[in-house]
Amino acid sequence: MTQDILDLSDEILDGKSNLPMTGLLLNQPHELHEIGDGLAVVLAFGNVMPVRTGNTLTLVDTGNIFQAPANHGLVKNWSDAPLEVAVFTHGHVDHAMGMGPWDAEADAAGRPRARVVAHEAILPRFERYALTAGWNGIINQRQFSIPGLTWPTEYRTPDETYRSDLVVEAGGSLIELHHARGETDDHTWVFLPEQKVLYPGDLFIWCVPNAGNPQKVQRYAKDWAVALRDMAAKDAELFVPSHGLPIRGADRIRTALVDTAALLESLHDQTVELMNQGCSLNDVIHTVEIPADLLDKPYLTPIYDEPEFIVRNVWRFYGGWHDGNPAHLKPARDPDLAREIASLAGGPQALAERAAALLPAGDRRIAAHLAEFAFRAAPDDRKVNRIRAEVFTACQEDATSLMAKGIYGAAVRESREVEASGR
Ligand SMILES: [Zn+2]
Repeated sequence: MTQDILDLSDEILDGKSNLPMTGLLLNQPHELHEIGDGLAVVLAFGNVMPVRTGNTLTLVDTGNIFQAPANHGLVKNWSDAPLEVAVFTHGHVDHAMGMGPWDAEADAAGRPRARVVAHEAILPRFERYALTAGWNGIINQRQFSIPGLTWPTEYRTPDETYRSDLVVEAGGSLIELHHARGETDDHTWVFLPEQKVLYPGDLFIWCVPNAGNPQKVQRYAKDWAVALRDMAAKDAELFVPSHGLPIRGADRIRTALVDTAALLESLHDQTVELMNQGCSLNDVIHTVEIPADLLDKPYLTPIYDEPEFIVRNVWRFYGGWHDGNPAHLKPARDPDLAREIASLAGGPQALAERAAALLPAGDRRIAAHLAEFAFRAAPDDRKVNRIRAEVFTACQEDATSLMAKGIYGAAVRESREVEASGR
């Protein structure tokens, strides 16, 4: 029998478990857990969270398209009540792609389909996803290290949208929906006032917030922190995020929310302060101090996103794309600049060798620049590619975040392919 997930969550938060956080985020068994009277969570990517009120069901989030049939079966196994309402906490494909089996079930039974409710900004999001499906396929292949991943172009649009707040009634109970920008511009957090249950969507994910993501559209660190503090003020007794384990106990919930807010506020406020002094982006990312005490919390490890990337997104939110380096305003073509640098250094291989020599000393960032110049100057050179693969493998090993590992890993694969091709 699997351990009670609320006991496990208590142990992690109370410092009595060393469960690796990557396991917590991604590798829990795909099962449904009852976590209260009429309350359950299917641990999946992302979680599906059914609520039974009266003789109907509400779902907070519906999960991804691949797990949709299994998620549907797990929930049906727990309760046969018809689905009346489904809330998409946001339009990411791990949350808003699970309605297929539910709609099919209603159609087969001759019942009206469930009412899907979401924030109004989900509609332009879905349009953007269809417009940029190729791009989204490529960046998500890199982010998640899944080379074959393709991006969907068709979405189950909500039946009802709202702008700032909405109260929905299902099975005689009230469900509060509150909008806040954070990981996305279309986020909804959900509160059940009678049961004192809070669903933050992806505004809490058991690790450093996905507020920096190098390959994705703008995130909103400041609004996100405000939302976390608004949620903390609800004094919820059960907290069910869309990734990872639920949390019980008002004190544990409040602490987790306030700590996460404090991390975002620290990064945001330091970045704005440096921008107001006229610092370049490069200065800003090397000057902001990361609050190490907060990163030590079991729910703030930088395993998915990382603080340096959040700083960049704060810059992007308030600043333009110009980073303060005048040479970057109208840059040369990468290969032209790389060949010039390589010729000064004695050739692409000399540059690559210097990159390799820097590796043992641990200066991965400079090694990465030199290896990349060597590669851009001589993209078919096997030795250059061998060293470039070694350099980015070291970067990948040093990185804590899945996002950094994914981008470095793509460069490693690219150079290994050239090296193996024998050109
Ligand atoms: Zn998610």
